[in-house]
Amino acid sequence: MSIQTIGVVGAGSMGAGIANSAAMNGFNVILQDIETQFLDGALQRISKFMDKSVERKKMTEEQKEATLGRITTTVELNDLKDVDLVIEAVLENMDLKKEVFAQLDDIVRDDVIIATNTSSLSITEIASSTKRSDRIAGMHFFNPAQLMKLVEVVRGLETSNETVEVLKALSSDLNKEVVEVKIDSPGFIVNRVMVPQFIEAIRLLEEGVATAEDIDKAVKYGLNYPMGPFELQDYAGVDIGYYVMEYFQEEFNDPRFAPPLLMKQMMRAGRYGKKTGMGFYNYKKEEKKANRV
Ligand code: NAD
Repeated sequence: MSIQTIGVVGAGSMGAGIANSAAMNGFNVILQDIETQFLDGALQRISKFMDKSVERKKMTEEQKEATLGRITTTVELNDLKDVDLVIEAVLENMDLKKEVFAQLDDIVRDDVIIATNTSSLSITEIASSTKRSDRIAGMHFFNPAQLMKLVEVVRGLETSNETVEVLKALSSDLNKEVVEVKIDSPGFIVNRVMVPQFIEAIRLLEEGVATAEDIDKAVKYGLNYPMGPFELQDYAGVDIGYYVMEYFQEEFNDPRFAPPLLMKQMMRAGRYGKKTGMGFYNYKKEEKKANRV
């Protein structure tokens, strides 16, 4: 099956990035969301991202315009009826994802693969809302999707080998490095490795072994990571990590994944999330820049 047009459902941070990435690599994209304002916002962010690429001479103005020309937007899920593949990137909520997948199952052709960009939810459970569980899989991009090189292709219990091969080939066509996650296991690979590191970093802080600044510095320079664990959690939103820890604890039935006390207190105090500008470093972004590193 040749893929020419990709449907992307959900035009938030990830949906916009995935749509942009697909269009930059020559695919036609139909980007869908529930309200026009979200689609307009997505197009603006996509355009702004490519302005920077033009400034840095990574693409020409003509390439930018051609990329934008390959993206159409719609609030009607039905407009995805002729696409060759769908990537879903709506909010991280199982009931919502199942509802969207059940609708898509009725709309798109029988041979079409529907992939989900979920970071943590069960692919097998999402697939259960369709009659095509062999053509459902995870396609986990990282943020920002235009720049981050990795895609985790994740098998649900009934995902076919053919589906996995198609998604691996598509990831390569999108200029990504791809890994296969053979079992639908919480956190897949990257989050499973990363979350225990977050937990240990918070425990070090709680035990008074070192300051957040020094833990970040140690990890950055000692492990050659671009960001330290606290910097990264503040960037992504402390609440996201917290919910993933709770989910791991429940799914693996393992207390070692329990969110540390400091994190619980931060959640109770409302000191989390991108929008508050607060996190482990508890100061606004501008001050943060001035005060650190
Ligand atoms: P977001 O909140 O930025 O965007 C979600 C979008 O989905 C919103 O624009 C919303 O209007 C739209 N939406 C909600 N209900 C819809 C529906 N019924 N139909 C169509 N659109 C609908 O979220 P995000 O950060 O882009 O995350 C999207 C998915 O990607 C989640 O599953 C998340 O776990 C996953 N993910 C996020 C990141 C990240 O760093 N943000 C990284 C990898 C994967």
